[in-house]
Amino acid sequence: MNRVLIVEDETRIAAFVEKGLRANGFTPTVVGDGISGLGHAMSGEFDLVVLDVGLPGMDGFTVLRRLRQARSQLPVIILTARDSVTDTVAALEGGADDYMPKPFKFDELLARIRLRLRSDRTPEVTMLQHGPVGLDLRTRRASVDGRTVDLSAREFALAEIFWRNPGQVLSREQLLSHVWGYDFDPGSNVVDVYVGYLRRKLGADLIETVRGMGYRLSASTP
Ligand code: CA
Repeated sequence: MNRVLIVEDETRIAAFVEKGLRANGFTPTVVGDGISGLGHAMSGEFDLVVLDVGLPGMDGFTVLRRLRQARSQLPVIILTARDSVTDTVAALEGGADDYMPKPFKFDELLARIRLRLRSDRTPEVTMLQHGPVGLDLRTRRASVDGRTVDLSAREFALAEIFWRNPGQVLSREQLLSHVWGYDFDPGSNVVDVYVGYLRRKLGADLIETVRGMGYRLSASTP
């Protein structure tokens, strides 16, 4: 239940979604036009489609309509323009399961994808534990040695990506696009500031600085 088809012609957005999904254990595939998008969606090889509206070849609404005409039940999340009520209505009336207004933060899309893919067959991971720190993904609460620690939504989102990828170096750019969205200024030091907050709240040694590359959750637990 983790094969996601991304139909998006804007390579920056497609790459942003693809990277984010891969970091969260999904298997994403990107196609850049409506006709191959429809072909892939009909192949039976995907669990969900993230579908842009403005596409070369065939627009997203037509792809969606063809898919539903063929009685495909594949969950579809449409990427709409934020200011277009018409698009949103058309998406939902056309049989989309959900929509995501652009621009969006990765976590907003991820939450919608997870919701649509939730299956009673595969029990979801609800607790990430690493060393003394546990993250409860349902309540969005952190604990250190069993004691609850207050994290803001941003801090929790940042902690979650580290805790899902222990031992893996995550660049500032990856963390920025994952937690803050692709429109954030890449020169910002907000990631460093928030890593500082997490070190203060969760423990100084857990998140290591990898000089010139980014940060990593230490593979060995203290
Ligand atoms: Ca487009």
